[in-house]
Amino acid sequence: MTDHPPALRILSLGAGVQSTTLLMLAADGTLPALDAAVFADTGWEPAAVYEHLDRLEAEVARPAGIPIYRVSSGRIQDDVLDPDKQRSLPAHTRDPETGEDGMLNRRCTQTYKLTPILRQARLLLGAQTSDPTPCRYCDGSGTRVAPWRAKRDDHTPGPCSVCGATGTLARVGQPPAGVWAEQWIGFSTDEIGRVSDRGDTRYSRSRHPLLELNMSRTQCDAYLKHRGWTSVEKSACIGCPFHGNAEWRRMRDADPESWADAVAFDKAYRTGPGLRHERFLHISRKPLDQAPIDRVRPSEWQQDTVFDAAYDHELAEQGDPDGCSPWACRSGQPVTADDTAA
Ligand code: SF4
Ligand SMILES: [Zn+2]
Repeated sequence: MTDHPPALRILSLGAGVQSTTLLMLAADGTLPALDAAVFADTGWEPAAVYEHLDRLEAEVARPAGIPIYRVSSGRIQDDVLDPDKQRSLPAHTRDPETGEDGMLNRRCTQTYKLTPILRQARLLLGAQTSDPTPCRYCDGSGTRVAPWRAKRDDHTPGPCSVCGATGTLARVGQPPAGVWAEQWIGFSTDEIGRVSDRGDTRYSRSRHPLLELNMSRTQCDAYLKHRGWTSVEKSACIGCPFHGNAEWRRMRDADPESWADAVAFDKAYRTGPGLRHERFLHISRKPLDQAPIDRVRPSEWQQDTVFDAAYDHELAEQGDPDGCSPWACRSGQPVTADDTAA
């Protein structure tokens, strides 16, 4: 793969502080020119992130000749509530009978971010999309009884989630041999522990230009402010269960629309067909509008018998400070690239 120079330089644009910095450094010539930036849209970012992205495109990317591709695998907040789709958020869980706590698997980053980003990279590198063939999961009808429904003896037919009810499947193949892209990822020096080559494939290889420039998140912030971009929001789904209390409070106080959305979603997501445990967005496993997001001093938390000694106060307050990256996992488990997924 590395015998040839990269055919393309592509930025993984999350639209937070670090990837915005990379786009601007490429646009102002500090870094080499970018051929494209790819934003994976879960459909559930706060309005401020979409506004920021629009402004970035109009004022930075377009004038510099860098196309921004907005790619999507669907609207996460709708998909995880759809009984005909088997999607989930990494919610905090509690079994009401045993009181046992847990957390759901985190596959959303791969499904909604990594997979569509890599698919777009293959297309940009010249991969072909196959002719549509009948979907074998629904025999081309677009409708089926989902296997997880059938397991519960529920034989209600619904739209086939594999082909999106179209009855056909078309896959994006592999780019020509030896053709590969340099994939720019916005990890800063304070995130060095998140760096890995797990997202690398035959046609895509990670590069971390902020590390090469020895830039921390604080320095990225300063650079953006210097360029007149004073308030770049952290990019993450409105209802991400990895938010800490600081973020929940900010949302409640500064973005009531998103807060109302998260509270309503939290209620709707509590239970589902065939589920024994209950699902919560907040780590306390209380409904979001009743969760103790204002109580930040450990001494106060410790007096609350709801929480046991193992409760991680720092995690509850800060959540994961690094944001949701398709190139590293917020929950500590690496995500893997599915480079064959269409
Ligand atoms: S922000 Fe949270 S919910 Fe959204 S894709 Fe990332 S981990 Fe999943
Ligand atoms: Zn189908």
